[in-house]
Amino acid sequence: MSATPPTRALGRKSIRASAAPRDLMADEDLATAWAAQVVTLLPQAWPGILGESLTGRALAEGLWTLRTIDLRAHGEGRHRNVDDTPAGGGAGMVLRADVGARAMADALGRARGDVPRLLMSPRGRPFDQARARDLAGRDGVILFCGRFEGVDERLVDHFGLEEVSLGDFVLTGGDIAAQALIDATVRLMPRVLGNQHSAEEESFSTGLLEYPQYTKPAVWEGRAIPDVLLSGHHAQITAWRQAEAERLTKERRPDLWRARVTRPDEDREL
Ligand code: SAH
Repeated sequence: MSATPPTRALGRKSIRASAAPRDLMADEDLATAWAAQVVTLLPQAWPGILGESLTGRALAEGLWTLRTIDLRAHGEGRHRNVDDTPAGGGAGMVLRADVGARAMADALGRARGDVPRLLMSPRGRPFDQARARDLAGRDGVILFCGRFEGVDERLVDHFGLEEVSLGDFVLTGGDIAAQALIDATVRLMPRVLGNQHSAEEESFSTGLLEYPQYTKPAVWEGRAIPDVLLSGHHAQITAWRQAEAERLTKERRPDLWRARVTRPDEDREL
């Protein structure tokens, strides 16, 4: 059988040969780039959407790095089996703990610093903006992507994997969830968004959903941009946006609204 390379690294792959050691030490990106390691049965699906646009440019610039660990390469026997039928019976297949453990050992061997180990799982705590901020402040993350019916529970216990869910729905595998998690995290890093300001005002950062946005043309299909936004009156624009953000949050997300009004100590500025 063809030998599958167990890992693939993306991001800053090589050190410029011309750079003197002193310059490399001074190169903050090399020393501190946020490092994502992803254990997956589908390494070919990476970097996927993360290779595009802002996250892709940041990856190419070495602001973060990505390494996939191919579960299949750690599989059992000639056929590199990774799964088996559930103990106790039932539908589908379960990823083996021993196979998953070899892939995790590979990831842990390369991890440096404060790197949480997460399992993408519909049973997990829902991922949110606060968690994205938390992860962006760490040295990286190890993400284990499940497939089929999920993973052997002993793998979760042995490595203390923290289960994280993208929401109350079931995907066929963890890869899309992991890419969404990385996207939300990477865009919070300095220099990834062109305009850092936009991450501060948008949905969830303020505890509110974002106000409506408009751009040219001034009138489209008989619909005009609200006058206040074209008035040039900054205080009124700010007040209008705050009122709209509050209205939308009350209407659509009473849970967020309640959480917000019960924290009177919080800065309510937009
Ligand atoms: N039998 C499981 C679902 C398995 S879905 C159950 O009922 O809970 C297969 C894999 O997809 C999971 O192991 C997980 O890694 C991933 N996955 C599915 N839904 C997800 C979600 N909402 N969030 C994060 N990962 C998810």
